[in-house]
Amino acid sequence: AKAETLLEVNNIEVIYNHVILVLKGVSLTVAKGGITALLGGNGAGKTTTLKAISNLLHSERGEVTKGSILYRGDPVADLNPSELVQRGVIQVMEGRHCFEHLTVEENLLTGAYTRRVGKGQIDADLERVYEYFPRLRERRKSQAGYTSGGEQQMCAIGRALMSRPEMILLDEPSMGLAPQLVEEIFGIVKDLNEAEGVSFLLAEQNTNVALRFAHYGFILESGRVVMDGPAAELRENPDVKEFYLGMS
Ligand code: ATP
Repeated sequence: AKAETLLEVNNIEVIYNHVILVLKGVSLTVAKGGITALLGGNGAGKTTTLKAISNLLHSERGEVTKGSILYRGDPVADLNPSELVQRGVIQVMEGRHCFEHLTVEENLLTGAYTRRVGKGQIDADLERVYEYFPRLRERRKSQAGYTSGGEQQMCAIGRALMSRPEMILLDEPSMGLAPQLVEEIFGIVKDLNEAEGVSFLLAEQNTNVALRFAHYGFILESGRVVMDGPAAELRENPDVKEFYLGMS
């Protein structure tokens, strides 16, 4: 049976500053319980696509000028980011974005701000984050700005988890991290997906690692989807091998 579609992006166009057409009709879907990779080189439009979904383009003078974005079949274009979080969708921005002057634990707690639940529940959720990210438990009293790049990425994902999301939009989680840490972070993404059914749409330039962990992939070039398919098939595709995996 075909998995239920959670997120559906239909033929969206995005224009910056009223003139620069950056997405030229992008369509993609994310299945419930899936890990979907959005691949492509620098400037292909991955970040723009994620920001279009979570309605974060306004501050960059960007707007969706065509197409539609549906979550569970409902249009979400008019929801602000915190309304979207309440629907279950949260974005982890590229470059990590922890509050540097707060401790790791304080950062995690900020992730629960949209929820009206008691302290007991928040404590349980914090414990759950620490189970997935033992390093964050060790560093919980440290000021986030003094933790490593990998720990800050973990902190950003952990903070997102505190909102109890159904889907996480993860932008370039591998950026600037050593290979071993990239493996560690993708391994946790996989665990969260398998154990808790969290769905992911992850934007990655690191095609190799993304296609090992994702179920399905879309490849963007200059604002257009040029190829999509099950990750296992994309990994074996000669063009993907040549242009994105650096082998031929
Ligand atoms: P990266 O890995 O560098 O983030 P990306 O695939 O995520 O790449 P985007 O950041 O979405 O790509 O950028 C897509 C295109 O849009 C690029 O050509 C970029 O220069 C342009 N762009 C991004 N933000 C703006 C903006 N605020 N104003 C004008 N152009 C922008």
